[in-house]
Amino acid sequence: MSKTILITGGSRGIGAATAILAGRQKYQVCVNYLKNEVAAHKVVDEINHNGGKAAAYQADVSNENEVIDLFQRIDKDFGNLYGLVNNAGILEAQSRVVDLELDRFQRIINSNLMSCFLCSKEAIKRMSTSYGGAGGAIVNVSSIAARTGSPNEYVDYAASKGAVDTFTIGLSKEVAGEGIRVNGVRPGFIYTDIHADGGEPNRVDRIKESLPLRRGGQPDEVANAIMWLLGEESSYSTGILIDVTGGR
Ligand code: NAP
Repeated sequence: MSKTILITGGSRGIGAATAILAGRQKYQVCVNYLKNEVAAHKVVDEINHNGGKAAAYQADVSNENEVIDLFQRIDKDFGNLYGLVNNAGILEAQSRVVDLELDRFQRIINSNLMSCFLCSKEAIKRMSTSYGGAGGAIVNVSSIAARTGSPNEYVDYAASKGAVDTFTIGLSKEVAGEGIRVNGVRPGFIYTDIHADGGEPNRVDRIKESLPLRRGGQPDEVANAIMWLLGEESSYSTGILIDVTGGR
């Protein structure tokens, strides 16, 4: 029987590429999105038209009640959950720390870190052998920013991703004895819409020449790492962070 996975922020960018790859690998795919219903349905249609099984689920994964409801809807539609990809994430306009407002910092932490906590909590209740589950895998999408700190651009975003990495390491040890592996992927400079949200749509092209591989990355290249960590091929890995950063 196919395994069911949930990808948060599966409507665009890295999440969409991961959903489509997962569909090709015969997973049943729950595609979560926040606002872009059209994009989410495009991903779902592509998977279903190619013989896979997918459905779209609107929910703000930084909101506890919406996350609880999201998991309950998936329980009804698909039953057992095998995998969770905590991919949803945001950044906001490039700014120095001294100019950041508290509200914004909190939005970034809620969207990037609290979403991982809230979704992992619900997933563990379904996957953990201690709760009668069959085990599973969680992959958290962090960022190279956790290492670099993103000075003058998004220190708030970088701090949220640093916390995601620590969450990955701690949680992996906590649930390793319950059949759940927890790992992370840290993308570098990937061609997606997120850079426009920071006010610089062509950011990847500006930076690419400074990278050892001399190019930006494609969402598919991150999806490959995510799906490797989610699947049986990585069965002896937990608590690891894979950098997909063109060598930086
Ligand atoms: P993107 O193209 O901007 O897509 C973001 C996705 O997240 C969309 O599907 C969006 O849904 C969803 N989303 C945002 N907030 C949400 C919320 N509160 N609840 C549910 N869904 C939400 O971003 P991306 O570049 O693919 O980024 C994906 C992940 O990779 C993020 O965690 C990001 O931090 C990380 N990352 C990206 C890069 C890069 O260079 N692109 C580098 C390092 C790390 P809607 O479509 O409905 O808006």
